Amino acid sequence: MFGKGIFKGLKITIGHLFEKKVTQQYPEERPVLPARFKGSFDLNVAKCIACGLCSNACPNHVIKIESVKDENNKKKLTGYKMLAEQCLYCGFCVEVCPTKALQWNHDYERAKFFRDEVNLDLYAKYTPSPDDDKKDIPEKNVKPEEKQDESAKAS
Ligand code: SF4
Ligand code: SF4
Repeated sequence: MFGKGIFKGLKITIGHLFEKKVTQQYPEERPVLPARFKGSFDLNVAKCIACGLCSNACPNHVIKIESVKDENNKKKLTGYKMLAEQCLYCGFCVEVCPTKALQWNHDYERAKFFRDEVNLDLYAKYTPSPDDDKKDIPEKNVKPEEKQDESAKAS
């Protein structure tokens, strides 16, 4: 039939007129983000064992770690920088972290005027908190002496 296409198009347009509006008035309205949204990174320095797995897993050489050995020959983190402008958001670094020290956060407002400002110094950014215990470390990564300390604290 001649002109059938117009009616088809109008049907779709009119249908959209009565749909629920999805536009958000950002920045007055803030989006509700899914739990696994990849914004920026947080590092819990207290949980980091300076193993370097995150840095080795990164395909784009984004992560630079500095560490020293303490009197017990145990590595101690002294610096953690990310060239975030090169990050692919692949998530390998977060996945591979054995202590869950490195996590994604929901910081999506990462636009900066200068490129250097995009990069992250997670060691300097870290603020110690009372929740910084090592309870989240999987059993296989807790040394026997640390387990004893925990049980002594509990009793
Ligand atoms: S998300 Fe991927 S590219 Fe970005 S720092 Fe982690 S491993 Fe590297
Ligand atoms: S993988 Fe985790 S524990 Fe190891 S250096 Fe990276 S952030 Fe620290």
